[in-house]
Amino acid sequence: MARVGGRASESAARPGTVTCIQRLAWDALHRLAEHGGKCEAFHGHRYVAEIECSGELDDVGRVVDFSVIKSEVGGWINANWDHTGIFARSDEDHAIQAIAESNSRYGRPVFLLEHPPSAENIAAALADVARDLLRPHHVNVISVRVWETPNSSGRWVIDT
Ligand SMILES: [Zn+2]
Repeated sequence: MARVGGRASESAARPGTVTCIQRLAWDALHRLAEHGGKCEAFHGHRYVAEIECSGELDDVGRVVDFSVIKSEVGGWINANWDHTGIFARSDEDHAIQAIAESNSRYGRPVFLLEHPPSAENIAAALADVARDLLRPHHVNVISVRVWETPNSSGRWVIDT
C-alpha cells in the first residue's frame, strides 16, 4: 500500500470515520418561559447550526456535496425559522399570538415547538428535520450543534 507522509493513503486503512460539517445561520426571536431570569423576556439570537454528516465517500472524496445540505436544510431553515419566532406550543404568553399575527402579515408566521426553545431542543428539532431531508441523499446526520451565542450551544448526537 502506498503511504504518504507516513500515513496510509487508502481510506480503508484509516482508523476512525471522516465526517463533513455544514454551518447554517439564521435570526430568530424566542423566550424560555420557565427560565426564572432574563431569558423569560422575548429576545433574539443569531443562531448558528453545525450539521455533521457521515456516509460513504463518493469518488470526489465527499460525504455529500455541501450545497445539498445548504439547499435542503438551509432552505428549510429559511422557510420556517429565519426572521420569525421559535416558541413552545405550551407557552401561553399573550404576546405570542400578537407576534404570530403581525409576522403573518410579512409572510413570517411563528414556529411552535413541542418543547421549550432552548438551544438543546432546537438542536434536536433541527436534527429531526435534517435527518428526514438528507436521508434520500444517503447521508446520515450524526450530530447537530446549535449555537445561541458565540459561547453557548446545545447539541444533539445520535445514539450509538
Ligand atoms: Zn435566548
